[in-house]
Amino acid sequence: MVWKKLKAAVSKGVSKVRRGAGVSKKKLKGAKGKCLEYPNRFLKFYHSNQKRLLKERKKLYHQKLDAGICVRCNNQALDKIKFCSYHQERQREYNLKARMRRKKKEVQSV
Ligand SMILES: [Zn+2]
Repeated sequence: MVWKKLKAAVSKGVSKVRRGAGVSKKKLKGAKGKCLEYPNRFLKFYHSNQKRLLKERKKLYHQKLDAGICVRCNNQALDKIKFCSYHQERQREYNLKARMRRKKKEVQSV
C-alpha cells in the first residue's frame, strides 16, 4: 500500500507532463539491467527511474514558475517570488541556517 502512495506522490501533478514526455522504454530497461542490491524497493525505484523523475520534476517546477504557482505547494505564489507566503517564510529560515553553517565552516578552516 505504501508503494501505491509513493507512486501517487511521485506522479502527483505530473500526469500532464507525462503524456508529452515520451519516456523511452529502452532507457528504463537499461537501468533495470544493473542488478544492484538496494536496502528497499523505494530506493531501487528511484535509482532505476532517476533521470525520468528529475526531468519530470524540473518540468513541473518551470510550469509552476510560469503559472505563478508556489513551487512547493499549489497555492498562489507571491509577486516575482516562486513561493507562497508560507514557503517564503520557511525558505528564509533555511537560508539563515545555511548561512550560519557556512560561517562556521569558514571560521573552522581559517
Ligand atoms: Zn507554498
